[in-house]
This record gives sequence, structure tokens and C-alpha cells, in this order.
Amino acid sequence: MKRTCDFCYRLCCLSDGQKGVCGVRQNQGGRLVSLGWGNVVALASDPVEKKPLYHFLPGTHTLSFALFGCNFKCSFCQNYTISQQEYYSQREGRPLEPREIVDLALFHGSPSISFTYSEPLVWQDYLCEVARLAREAALRTIMVTNGSFSAPALERLLPLIDAFNVDLKGDESFYRRVCKASREPVLAAIEAIVEAKRHLEVTTMVTESDHTPAVMEALSEELKTRGVEVWHLSRYVPRYRYHDRATSEEFLAEAVERARESGIPHVYAGNSAQDTSTYCPHCHALLIRRGALRPVSRVAGGCCPECGHRLYGHFPA
Ligand code: SF4
Repeated sequence: MKRTCDFCYRLCCLSDGQKGVCGVRQNQGGRLVSLGWGNVVALASDPVEKKPLYHFLPGTHTLSFALFGCNFKCSFCQNYTISQQEYYSQREGRPLEPREIVDLALFHGSPSISFTYSEPLVWQDYLCEVARLAREAALRTIMVTNGSFSAPALERLLPLIDAFNVDLKGDESFYRRVCKASREPVLAAIEAIVEAKRHLEVTTMVTESDHTPAVMEALSEELKTRGVEVWHLSRYVPRYRYHDRATSEEFLAEAVERARESGIPHVYAGNSAQDTSTYCPHCHALLIRRGALRPVSRVAGGCCPECGHRLYGHFPA
């Protein structure tokens, strides 16, 4: 009997024995199963800034992990050994029950758990179990995702996730050529996350050939009209199968400057030596200084101490 997986926008309709595009979900005798369920292939306690999230509990650590898999095929993937099917058999993981992930977060004193590194949408059955237990333990949940939700996945995950970092990778041509995917579900998810009042930061990796000023201007317009307040522009460096030259600091700085001028309140350079501090969008006072060490925050009760402007995000009391 055929079964349809609704974990992402692809809605793969699978015959008995068939796997979906991600290689993770499989129809086994009329039952959909997730291969690699509970097999943790990456696990670390990271600064939350590394997700990147700059406006969500800054200065804290987050217990971060991944199971194997992704529903995209980005040729620039930084984590291809844990996302792409051809490496599946080469990754020995560590079997962990959802309860053990939550216990690890509590043991490390992490206020949050992050579903990250690969694409959590394709292992969302495991994610949901961890997230429910995390809620019971008063831990926050973070999802770092390519954003290609199906409508049922959005419905399932919005109530369980406190903060999202969603990749908006480029224009439609970039999604089709380089990611073998589609951009429409990502824009729809961004809109739904903002509407649901969940914390959202968006990331775009910037290449010199595909992220021209015209493309970046169109992206910033799309984000602005959807009410996005935090945008990370990350400098591309060569990896996997995308062989453009590394993006220069100058090219990235210009992209950041133009994005700021477009009216998005907080734009940050990523994978870069540039200043990543947070300034008040109203009076321009320095609010969070970020350098090599732990961020130093002057945010008081979520507000700028100089002019009282309420800053977008969640800040420790
Ligand atoms: S997660 Fe997405 S790609 Fe994988 S089987 Fe389900 S619908 Fe298909």
C-alpha cells in the first residue's frame, strides 16, 4: 500500500520498500518508518550564537544535536557527511532515547535544546518527542532548518518550537540549480512563523556569483514585507561540490550595508571578522558586544537602557 510522508513540502508518495527523497523515510509494509531514528550523529553544547541566534537568550549554551538526513541536495553543504544519503552508511552514531537528550541538557545546565546541523524536518518524529519532554522540563527548543515545511509539519512544530533559524538561500533559480529544491515553501514558513509570534532569525549564505546586489535587494524586500527583524549574511567558503571562490570580506560588508539600508532592523555578518555587535535600532547605542569572548549585554528588561526602545528577542532577566 502506498503511503504519503508529510514531514516536508515534497509530500513523497511511497510504495512498499521505497524511500523518500531524503533517504530517511521509508514505506515498510504500508507503515512509514524513519531510518536512523535515535541514532545521534552529532552532539555538542554550543553557544546559542553559533546557530546563529543573536536575539534569543544571548550568552547561553544550547545542547545541540542531529540525526542523519536532509531533503535538499545543496552543493555547498557545510555538513554533507551527516546530511547527504551517499554518506549514510559511513556515519556511526550514538543511540540515544529522547529522554536522554533532555537529561543531557539538564546535566549541562543548558536552558535550551537545538535541533540542528542536518535537516531536522526529516527526523521530526524524534524531534517532536524530544521537544515535548523538553517542554515538561521547562527547557526552550530551537530549530535550525531549511524551512521547507509541509502545512501539517508547520502545524505540528509551531506549538513545540520556541525559536527558529531559517535559511533563505537565494532566488528560485538558486534553489533549483544548486539545492535541487524549491523556495516557495520556505517563504510560506517564514510568514507562518512570524504570524505565530515565534522567535525567528533568517540566514543567507552569500556567494559572489549568485548573490548579486539585485538578488539581495529582492531577498531583503521579501523578508521586510514578512516582518523579519534579524538577518544573518554568512560569508561563503568553498565546501563539498560548489566551487565558487570564497566570498571576500569587502563583498560581504557591502551586502550587509545594503541590507541595513533596506530597513531590516538587525543585519549581521557571519563567518567573518566584521563587527557583530547589536546596536539599538532607535538610538544606535551599543547593546550587546560580541567578540571572541562571551557576549556582554546592556539590554535591561528587554529594552535599550539609553532610550527605552524594546529590542526584538528574548533576553535573560
Ligand atoms: S521527509 Fe520530505 S523528502 Fe523525506 S520522505 Fe518525507 S516528504 Fe519525502
